[in-house]
Amino acid sequence: MRQALLDWFDVNARSFPWRTPGPRDAYAVLVAEALLQQTQAARAVPAFERFVARFPTPQSLAEAPSSDVLAQWQGLGYYQRALRLRACASALLQRHGGAVPTDVAALEALPGIGRYGARAIAAQAFGRDVVAVDANVRRVGARVLALEAPDDLAIERGLEALLCRAAAPRERGVSVTEALIELGATVCTPRAPACSRCPLLPTCAGRGAPESFPGRREVRTRRREVMRPLVARRGACVALRRRPRSGRWPGLWGFPVAAVGEAPGGRSLAGFEHVVTHRTLEVRPRIVAAQHLSGELAWLPVRQVAAGGGDHPVAAIDRRLAERLLDLWSSRREHDEAAA
Ligand code: SF4
Repeated sequence: MRQALLDWFDVNARSFPWRTPGPRDAYAVLVAEALLQQTQAARAVPAFERFVARFPTPQSLAEAPSSDVLAQWQGLGYYQRALRLRACASALLQRHGGAVPTDVAALEALPGIGRYGARAIAAQAFGRDVVAVDANVRRVGARVLALEAPDDLAIERGLEALLCRAAAPRERGVSVTEALIELGATVCTPRAPACSRCPLLPTCAGRGAPESFPGRREVRTRRREVMRPLVARRGACVALRRRPRSGRWPGLWGFPVAAVGEAPGGRSLAGFEHVVTHRTLEVRPRIVAAQHLSGELAWLPVRQVAAGGGDHPVAAIDRRLAERLLDLWSSRREHDEAAA
């Protein structure tokens, strides 16, 4: 099975900038893993290239201001990941002289890496014979082993027993984990897996009824939450406030938000929905006078906010609101000019 899987991967691996032939840059693999946690591979490619061009080493990342790191992360969401990646780079400098450790336990002890990340980095950067269970590997493992609703540990152990025997020849740097991730992404897909093209078909226990494994998961319903951003305008500029370092969109700039139960006054604007992890936000913006806003504010051109905020990076939700304001204000100006 191991040989069939690795042979298949040799021919069918998609090319990604972090999948370089020969020895890999382990720091680049680590950055790619952080990006891929919540972002699809195709979308992660330009972000990866931008990020490693700006921060080519752990040292350059550790020493960068957090606003710079957040600006490079723009559009990817889950901004805590960017800050954790920076904390991880600092730990690499302090504990490992700026190098990525090859050992799974040392990797797992780094901030924000976790069990999956440590195993995925060890496998992909150093060709270690360990299985890392992400959603793709979970599905392939459940099918190959015919396990219903298994936990990640059962899959990890089952696949390692099958594919990662210590005696197996280390014939190439490519890891079993990387091949399994690729197989799950391109062949053993959630619906209608292409079993006839699968290198594991002869030994797969779930073939014949692949979609029965790993069984149905509980569907999590998205909770709804109302959010009331406040728009204060001065000419072409709007007021933004920096968000706290903990909570949603940490450290990013955004429109000030009315607290629950607060009556901010002003005039309401057309709302919209914005989906974040497990939640749908009902965004109900209001135009208010600047004197209603307390605390430190930054006045930025709305066009700059709609483009991501530049040196004041903003989250996607604030970018969307700024785009709407731009549309609204420019169509109103056209309307006023036409009327004049
Ligand atoms: S044979 Fe089918 S079910 Fe089994 S691993 Fe391959 S694609 Fe998945």
